[in-house]
Amino acid sequence: MIRGVLLAASRSARARELVVATGPTRRVVDRFVAGERPADALDVVRGLAADGIAATVDRLGESGVDLASARESTDGYLALLDLAEDVGLAAGLDVSVKLSALGRLVPYGGLKICYENAAEICARAAEVGATVTVDAEEHTSVDAGLAVLADLRRDFPATGAVLQSYLRRTENDCRRLAGAGSRVRLCKGAYRAAGDVAFTRRADVDASYARCLGVLMTGEGYPMVATHDPRMLALAGRLADARDRDRDDFEYQLLHGVRPHEQLRLASLGAQVRVYLPYGPDWYPYLLRRMAERPANLALFLRALRTR
Ligand code: FAD
Repeated sequence: MIRGVLLAASRSARARELVVATGPTRRVVDRFVAGERPADALDVVRGLAADGIAATVDRLGESGVDLASARESTDGYLALLDLAEDVGLAAGLDVSVKLSALGRLVPYGGLKICYENAAEICARAAEVGATVTVDAEEHTSVDAGLAVLADLRRDFPATGAVLQSYLRRTENDCRRLAGAGSRVRLCKGAYRAAGDVAFTRRADVDASYARCLGVLMTGEGYPMVATHDPRMLALAGRLADARDRDRDDFEYQLLHGVRPHEQLRLASLGAQVRVYLPYGPDWYPYLLRRMAERPANLALFLRALRTR
C-alpha cells in the first residue's frame, strides 16, 4: 500500500512541490544522487574506478512532452560524454537513458524524435569508447522501447536493453534478446502494473527474476544482473559457474548508495561490478522510487524532513 502511494506521489506535480519545498536535507539526496552537474557525477565515477567499479550514469530529467526538454536532455548527455572524454573517464563508461526524457512522449512523432536523440547519444558514446543502455519504464512503453532499441542496435550493436522481471512477458523477451552481442540488464522493475500483465506478489517477481536470469546466463549475450537481493546475486554467481561463464562475461549492477559494502566485496572477488549513478537537479521522482522499494530508505527520508 505504501509502495503504491509513493509511486503515485513520484508522478504527482503537487506532491513534488510539497516535498521539494519542505526540502529533505542534502544528505539524504546525496546518498542516492551523485550531485547536480556532470562534473559531480564524474568525480564519483573516478572514485568508483579507484575501487575497480565501473559506472552507468543517468542524467535525471523530466519526462518532457515537448521538443525543447528532449533536446535539453540529449545535450546534457552529449556534454557529459564530452567532459568524460576530456577528463579521461570515457572508455568503458556507460550512460543510461530514458526514452521518455529523449522525447518519446512528444505528441506526433515522439518515437522518431527519441530514436534520433538516442542515436545521437549512441554515436557520441561510440566515438569516445562508451556505451548506452536504454532504461525500462512503465509497462505500457515496453513494446515501443524494444522497437527503438532494435533500430539503435543496427548501427550501435553494443546498446543495452533493460528487462523487468515483474512483467509476465519478460521471460519471453529474455529469450528473444539473449543472442550473441546483446547486452541485457535484468531488474525486478521499479513500477507497478495490474495482474494481467504483471506479477503482483514479491515471491512471484523473484521467481520470475530467477527464471529470466537462467535464460540470460544460458544465452550468448552479456547479462547485467541489476539487483541488491543477496539471493539473486548468489544465484547469478552459481549460474555463471554452471554455464562456464568467465567473470568478464557478465556483470553485477547496483544503485549508487545501496549496499556499498556489497559492491566492494563483489569487486574484490574479481567480478565485474557497475554502479548506476544518477545526477542532476531533478532528483524527486528517482528518490521517491527508491523510497517505494524499501521502508528503511523511507525512514531515512522522513527523518531528514523532520530534522530541517
Ligand atoms: P528488492 O526486492 O527491492 O530487495 C531484495 C533484497 O535486497 C532486500 O530484501 C534486501 O536484502 C536487499 N536490499 C534491497 N535494497 C536494499 C538497501 N537499500 N539496503 C540494503 N539491502 C537492500 N527499474 C526499472 O524499472 N527500470 C530500470 O531501467 C532500472 N534500472 C536499474 C538499474 C540498476 C543497476 C538497478 C540496481 C536497479 C534498476 N532498477 C530499474 C530498479 C529495480 O527494478 C528495483 O526496483 C530495485 O533494484 C530494487 O529491487 P532489488 O532487485 O534490489 O530487490
